Amino acid sequence: MEHVQHWIDGQLTAGKSDATAPIHNPATGEQTAELALASTADVDAVVASARTAATAWRSASLATRTKVLFAFRQLLAEHADEFAAIVTAEHGKVLSDAAGEVARGLENVEYACGVADLLKGDFTEQASTGVDVYSIRQPVGVVAGITPFNFPLMVPLWMCASAIACGNAFILKPSEKDPSASLLLARLWQQAGLPDGVFSVLQGDKVAVDGLLQHPQVDAVSFVGSTPIARYIYETGTKAGKRVQALGGAKNHMMVLPDADIDVAADAAVSAAYGAAGERCMAISVVVAVGAVADPLIDAIKTRIPGLRIGPGDQDGTDMGPLITAQHREKVVDYIDRGEREGATVVVDGRGNSSERGYFLGCTLLDDVEPDNVAYTDEIFGPVLSIVRVDTYEEALALINDHPFANGTAIFTRDGGAARRFQFDVQVGMVGVNVPIPVPVGYYSFGGWKSSLFGDTHMYGPEGINFWTRRKVVTSRWPDPGSSKIDLGFPTNGDH
Ligand code: NAD
Repeated sequence: MEHVQHWIDGQLTAGKSDATAPIHNPATGEQTAELALASTADVDAVVASARTAATAWRSASLATRTKVLFAFRQLLAEHADEFAAIVTAEHGKVLSDAAGEVARGLENVEYACGVADLLKGDFTEQASTGVDVYSIRQPVGVVAGITPFNFPLMVPLWMCASAIACGNAFILKPSEKDPSASLLLARLWQQAGLPDGVFSVLQGDKVAVDGLLQHPQVDAVSFVGSTPIARYIYETGTKAGKRVQALGGAKNHMMVLPDADIDVAADAAVSAAYGAAGERCMAISVVVAVGAVADPLIDAIKTRIPGLRIGPGDQDGTDMGPLITAQHREKVVDYIDRGEREGATVVVDGRGNSSERGYFLGCTLLDDVEPDNVAYTDEIFGPVLSIVRVDTYEEALALINDHPFANGTAIFTRDGGAARRFQFDVQVGMVGVNVPIPVPVGYYSFGGWKSSLFGDTHMYGPEGINFWTRRKVVTSRWPDPGSSKIDLGFPTNGDH
C-alpha cells in the first residue's frame, strides 16, 4: 500500500514517527494509502530546514522569485488533470469541480507573479530638509499553512503562492483526509526552481499542528478549517507570539426577494447547495424566502433535485460525489433527523440514498425551518438546504445579521436599489448579487466576518500580501559633516 510521506528539505521522508492514518477513497470506502503522521521531532526537522532556507530565500532577487513563480504557474497548468484526478480520488468531488479548484488556485499564483509590483513601498522625498522617508515590505520568515479537507489544492495555493513570492519559507500541513495533492505541489515547486526548504509538507494531525503553533521559530500561521479549531489556532498561536489568520466555518444565506426570477434563483440555490455535496465553505445552506416567493421557489428547487446524478466523482455525467468520511455522513444524517424532530418539513429526503459502499448521501430539502432549529443554527457541511420563510426584507436581513457565521451571502432580485441596500446593510464578508457563490477573484481578498474569521487580515490578494510581509519605515539623511551638531530635543519636522 502506498505510504504518503512528508516533504522536507526537497525530498520525501518517512519521518521519525511510526504513527500512521489510513486514507480512503470516499466513493468506495476502500483504504487506498497510509499517511505518515508527524511527531514533534519531525516538526523540529521541518522548521530547521525552513529556517535555513528562509534566510537565503529572502535575499533572492525579485527577478529570481518571479521567474520561479512563472515556471510554477506553467507546471501547475500542465498538471491540471493530474491534480483533478488526485483530488477526486481522495476527496470525492466530481472531476469538473476538482478542475475548477485547480483553475481558481491558478489565479492565486498568477496574482503572486506580480510580486515585484505588489511589494513596492512608498517614498517621500524631503520630508524634512535633506530627509527622505520610505517604507519597505520584508518577509515574515518561517510561516505555516494548516488547511482543510475540502479544497486540498486551492486553499494551499491561496496561501503558499504569495507567502513564497514575498520571500518566506512555507510549511504546509494539509488535511490528513486528502494529503496527496500537497506532494505533487512540492515536486512542481522544486521543478520550477524553488530552492529546497522554501516549500515543505508536514503530514499529520493535532500533534503536527500543536508543534507548529508552539515552535519558537515559526513566525506566522495561516489556517482554514472549522470554527472551533480556527478559534483554537488563533488563541494558541497569538499567545505564542505569532501572527495568525484563521478562517472558520460558515452558514451562507441566500435571500430571495419576491421580484426575483424563480428559475434563476432555483438554479442558483440547487447549484450552490448541492455542488461538492455541500462541502464548501461558500455553499448556500439557507434560502431565506421573502413573502410570496416561497411556494413557487420551493417547488422549482424540489423539481430540480431528482435530475441530479449522484455517483463516483470520476464517472462521466455525475453531478455530486460522496461525503468525505462515513462519520461525516452519519453526522449529516443526524442533523437531518434532529432538524425534522425540531419541526422542519422534509420536502426532499436524501437519507434513503445513503449507500453501503462509499459515503454517498442524497440531497435533502428542509422547509419551515425556524431560526432556533439545529438545521439552521449549525454548519452541517453536507447536501442539506434549509428554507426559512419570512415576510419582509427587514426580517430576512435581521436573520442574516444575527447569525454568528458571516462568511458569504447572496441576494437574488431584479431590483437594483434593493441589492444596493443589501450590500450596504449586510454584516457578512463576501456578498453576491445574483451570484450564489461569491468567491472573490484572486486580486481581491477572501474572508468572512464574525465567527468565520479570527484575526485581522483576509486571505490572498492584497490582504494576503499584508499578512505575509512586515512593514519597515526608513528615515534617511546624508548630512554635511560640517553642519553636524548635538541636539537633545525630540526630532520634529520643522525646517531643519
Ligand atoms: P477541521 O477544522 O477539522 O480541520 C482543518 C485542519 O485543522 C486540518 O489540517 C486538521 O488536521 C487540523 N485539525 C483538526 N482538528 C484539530 C485539532 N483539534 N487541533 C489542531 N488541529 C486540528 O476542518 P475540515 O473538516 O478539514 O474542513 C471543513 C471546515 O473548514 C468547515 O467548517 C468549512 O466551513 C471550513 N472551511 C472554511 C473556509 C473558509 O475560507 N472560511 C474554507 C474551506 C473550509
